[in-house]
Amino acid sequence: MSDVLARLEALRGDDLPTHGGRTLAYVYDSGLADADAIGRTALASFGATNGLDPTAFPSLTAMERDLVAFARPLFHAPEASVGTVTSGGTESVLLAVQTARDAHPEIGRPAMVVPTSAHGAFHKAAHYFGVEPVAVDVDPVTMRAVPEAMTAAMDAHAGRVVLVAASTPSYAHGVIDPVGPIAAAAAERGVRCHVDACIGGWVLPWSDVAQPWDFAVPGVTSLSADLHKYAYTPKGVSLLLHRDAALRRPQFFASADWPGYTMLNATMQSTRSGGPLAAAWAVTQHIGAEGYRTLVATTLDATRALAEAVRSTEHLRLAAEPDASLLAVACDDALDVFTLSDEMGERGWFVQPQMAFRGLPATLHLTVCAATAGGVDDFVVALRDSVAAAVAAGPVQVAPELRAAAAQLDPATLDDAAFDGLLQLAGLGGEGGAVAVPKRMAPVNALLDAAPPRLREALLIAFLDRLTR
Ligand SMILES: *Cc1c(COP(=O)(O)O)cnc(C)c1O
Repeated sequence: MSDVLARLEALRGDDLPTHGGRTLAYVYDSGLADADAIGRTALASFGATNGLDPTAFPSLTAMERDLVAFARPLFHAPEASVGTVTSGGTESVLLAVQTARDAHPEIGRPAMVVPTSAHGAFHKAAHYFGVEPVAVDVDPVTMRAVPEAMTAAMDAHAGRVVLVAASTPSYAHGVIDPVGPIAAAAAERGVRCHVDACIGGWVLPWSDVAQPWDFAVPGVTSLSADLHKYAYTPKGVSLLLHRDAALRRPQFFASADWPGYTMLNATMQSTRSGGPLAAAWAVTQHIGAEGYRTLVATTLDATRALAEAVRSTEHLRLAAEPDASLLAVACDDALDVFTLSDEMGERGWFVQPQMAFRGLPATLHLTVCAATAGGVDDFVVALRDSVAAAVAAGPVQVAPELRAAAAQLDPATLDDAAFDGLLQLAGLGGEGGAVAVPKRMAPVNALLDAAPPRLREALLIAFLDRLTR
């Protein structure tokens, strides 16, 4: 047994660290060892339980009710509100979109209006559920959704719009959309309005946000908040709240069309482990509202310190003024963010590159969490050194012929061999048609950044296809 566990541990050798506060995306570290231990224990002890049938394991239903009860006052959800525990932010968003669509079976070609800054999960939902995404450009200075433009888009697609969304905050730029006017315009038109608080949901209730952003805003019909982010619970838990039970009804699915048990599901999963739910219950009970208040204060202090470090570093700027605990860092022509990301990686800090998009610059994404606070001074040193190294290296040059060729390519016309060649060209080629991830990603990222979105998607899908063969 110990041999297997040792091998398991060895497999993690190349993984990003989940703890220590130096991985500024993907993972969230409270820095509270006891909260982690409680979460791990609960995860393990409920790993075999099954939420398939809500009557078979009443403990799971009880814990789900408790989590929803914890969340409701945080989001000013009214007495009639209801909630569901899902497996993550994407599932919460998928269900919000599916529910909005299925509330209007009479609409033949449903559409939803989202800011361009909305999380990719909305595009996934659009793809899965046949809802046309109408993406409305954000303000290029504040990076916030523009309510007048969102309203105009609703009117341009009048009679077809089943959902409007706002982010609090957006993942890419960390800014809070003006929920008030967006929800008001939606309500006037009888359209649902979803607040995507997947990342901000466990931060904003303990910070001083200038504008109401949750169910306190009339017209907000649903809200998602991920516990596996800033509630610091193990992965696999998000909440989807609806203003009332009638709004949620189309989310439920039952099937008696087979000879087995009558299927009855509140979410997309059928068998669903009670492990993440139990872990989330245990960690949130352990940390408690006052614990989160302290964690948020620590996190926001660290965010302000990192933001100040960015502002005072030559060649860098914030792509937007942060409204919460996320930063987007842009740079001038002396360097590129992809090289900067590699340099930070060399110094033990993971920062996530984000590509240029519709006139918005390429940036580095920083999700700051409580455990990052202790490393702020180290971060600042690493950032200054990394900028100096990236300036010395200069931005990655993508050959103009390559850039032009990329703009011309229609991914729909490319076959497997063409993708093999392109992946080689992009620096992702490995032995005998396989793929490999190079240590320095800047050349790959710069090339992907130059590719139009459809080609970038196709290349990455080809990459994943080969990586998982
Ligand atoms: C993380 C996130 C999501 C998606 O959540 P997953 O848990 O990664 O599926 C959706 N919206 C926002 C704003 C997010 O930050």
